[in-house]
Amino acid sequence: MKKIDCVKCEEQSSCCSFGAWVDLEEAKKISTLGLKGIFYHLEPDKDFPSGYRVGTSYEDNSCSFLTLEGLCAIHKIDYSLKPAHCKEFPYENGKLSPMVNSLCSLVKLKRKTKKKTR
Ligand code: SF4
Ligand code: SF4
Repeated sequence: MKKIDCVKCEEQSSCCSFGAWVDLEEAKKISTLGLKGIFYHLEPDKDFPSGYRVGTSYEDNSCSFLTLEGLCAIHKIDYSLKPAHCKEFPYENGKLSPMVNSLCSLVKLKRKTKKKTR
């Protein structure tokens, strides 16, 4: 599959539908911005640099940092503090994320178009 270009995406907030996992230390820095978003579900995870992760959404709700216009409140204020996972998505450790089929509208659209042309 060709590299996914988020700039060409017309539904950029679809990948924020269930929030993201954020390293606890990143979350502490984001909290200093005074935004409305909230962190949930603190849990240990050795894949995160601090050894802990927190989620940005409650259960299956949208990310608490998603604005009404469908933009990332953190990105708007300070891109450098946008969670690393969000900056990298739809890729994860250099590979396409396993969540891409359910979260990325561009991938879903490509799949639909392919089916129609078969
Ligand atoms: S990851 Fe997918 S849904 Fe999200 S902005 Fe990029 S192309 Fe759009
Ligand atoms: S932190 Fe920003 S980019 Fe990440 S899921 Fe939430 S709104 Fe989307």
